Amino acid sequence: MSENIMGSCLCGKVKYEIKNKFERFFLCHCAQCRKITGSAHASNLFGDPEGFNWTAGEKIVKRFDYPNRGFTNAFCGECGSGVPYLNQSSTAIVVPAGSLDTEPKFTSSSRIFHVERAEWDKLADTAEIFSSFPHE
Ligand SMILES: [Zn+2]
Ligand SMILES: [Zn+2]
Repeated sequence: MSENIMGSCLCGKVKYEIKNKFERFFLCHCAQCRKITGSAHASNLFGDPEGFNWTAGEKIVKRFDYPNRGFTNAFCGECGSGVPYLNQSSTAIVVPAGSLDTEPKFTSSSRIFHVERAEWDKLADTAEIFSSFPHE
């Protein structure tokens, strides 16, 4: 099973494993992905549904399917962290990269809907960098 990669939510009640071979890695800056993640962009890997298994907490996963354009949000019902889901066309498991516990292997990566990138995200390019909380 060394070719599998594990993931989990923040509280640890939801856990999964998936084959560590992802065809695409999309950083999506569209308005809907910003709403879903509450952040600058979604960071989604696309994996093979055959290679995916919940190892804990499947019953507390909540799923919301947006009526337009196939947007979905899946999250731990306890802590709200994003977790994987089967896309609405059942062709791929969409894995929020931040839910993985180690580094994924992927063959291509793209920033998509970059034209919809938030203005505040552009300003953040010049943000001061600290290794932890800023010091005085
Ligand atoms: Zn959780
Ligand atoms: Zn998007």
